Amino acid sequence: MIPGPVDVDADVLQALSGPVPGHLDAGFIATFGRALKRLREVSLAPGAQPFVVSGSGTLAMELAVANLIEPGDRALVVNTGYFSDRMAHILERHGAKVTHVRAASVGSAPDVAQVEAELRGGGFKLMTVTHVDTSTAVLAPVEPLVKAARQHGVLAVVDGVCATAGEAFHQDAWGADVYLTASQKAVGVPPGLALLTVSPRAIAAWKARKAPVASVYADWAEWLPIMEAYEAGKPAYFATPPTSLVCALDVSLGQILAEGMEARFERHRRMARAFRAAWSALGLKLVPTSEDVAANTLSAVYYPDGVDASLVGRVKAQGVAIAGGLHPEIKPRYFRVGHMNRVSPGDVLVTVGAIERALHAAGHRTATAGTAVAAAQAALSG
Ligand code: PMP
Repeated sequence: MIPGPVDVDADVLQALSGPVPGHLDAGFIATFGRALKRLREVSLAPGAQPFVVSGSGTLAMELAVANLIEPGDRALVVNTGYFSDRMAHILERHGAKVTHVRAASVGSAPDVAQVEAELRGGGFKLMTVTHVDTSTAVLAPVEPLVKAARQHGVLAVVDGVCATAGEAFHQDAWGADVYLTASQKAVGVPPGLALLTVSPRAIAAWKARKAPVASVYADWAEWLPIMEAYEAGKPAYFATPPTSLVCALDVSLGQILAEGMEARFERHRRMARAFRAAWSALGLKLVPTSEDVAANTLSAVYYPDGVDASLVGRVKAQGVAIAGGLHPEIKPRYFRVGHMNRVSPGDVLVTVGAIERALHAAGHRTATAGTAVAAAQAALSG
C-alpha cells in the first residue's frame, strides 16, 4: 500500500513471464500498436499522439520539457511540492525562465485566480501542473488550471504520475497539451515505462522550434516515427523498446478500459472516502488542508502526538507496507498510504486495521478497538 510501485494484477505479471519478444516480431508489433491506442483512450485524448518510452516518470517529464522548451522561454510552474520542484529543475536545466505560483502552505493547492493573473501578464510558453503531488497528496484543480492556460494560448503540461488512470482527467475535453505518467502507479505495471499523450498543438509547437532538441534520447523526432510505425502495424527501430513491459502495459491498459474510465475514477473516489473516514475516526489530521484538495490515489496523514515515524515499521509488522513522509518541510511528521490501481474494499479494511493496531501498540488508542475499521466499513457501505 505504498504510493508506487503498486500491487500488480496476476494477468499483467503473466504477460511478463513468457519468452522475451523481439521488438520486430509480428506479434509484438501488434501488441505495441494496441497498447498505444489504449493509452490514448485512457487519457481520454482521441486526438493525441501517444509515446511509450523505456524510462521512469522523470524521463516522461523530461520528454515533455526537452521538446517544448527552448532557452529563454518562460514557464509557469503551479507548485504543490516536491515533484513540482523537480519539474522546475528540469525546466531550468533546459533553459526556461521559471515563475512559480506556490500553494499558500504545505498541503494547500495554489489559487486558480493567482495562476490566471500570472497567465494574463503574458509571455509564458508553457504551464506545468502536478495532478497529484505524491509528497503531499494534494490534488490540484487541474481542469480550471488547464482551461485558463488554454484561454491564454499557453501550453499545459500535466504530470499525472500519481494520478493517471486513478483521478478523473479528460485530456481533450479540458484542452491539456501533454499528460505524462509512468507505469508503476495507477497504470498498474512494474516501473520502467515513461508514458505521454501529446496534443496536436504541442506537436505543432515542437515542429516550430528554432533549435534542435538538446538530447537525442528525449527527442520526439526520434520517437514519433517509431510510435506511428507500431500503430500502423509496421516494424521500426530507434532504440530497443522494453518488449516484456510493453506486453504487460497492453494487458493492464486493456483491464483499465474494460473497467471503464468513469467507473475507475469513481472506485478510486470511494476507496479514498473510506480511508478519510478512517483517518477521521482515528482523530488524525491530513496533510491536504481540505477535502476538495485531497487526492483519491493516496493519503498523507500526520502522526498523532506521541507517535513518530517508527509507526511505518509497526504497520509493516502488522503485515501492510506503507510509506513515510517525502516533503522536505514535514518529512518526519507524516506517513503516506497509496490507494490506486487494484485497490479494493478488502485492501482498505486490512490497511486501516493494521494501522489502527500499530497506533494502539504505539500508545494512540481509540475508545473501542475497531473504531476506524467500522468507519471505513460504513463509508464503503454507504
Ligand atoms: N511526478 C510525480 C507526481 C511522482 O509521484 C513521481 C514519482 N513518485 C515522479 C514524478 C517521478 O517519477 P519516477 O520516480 O518514476 O521517475
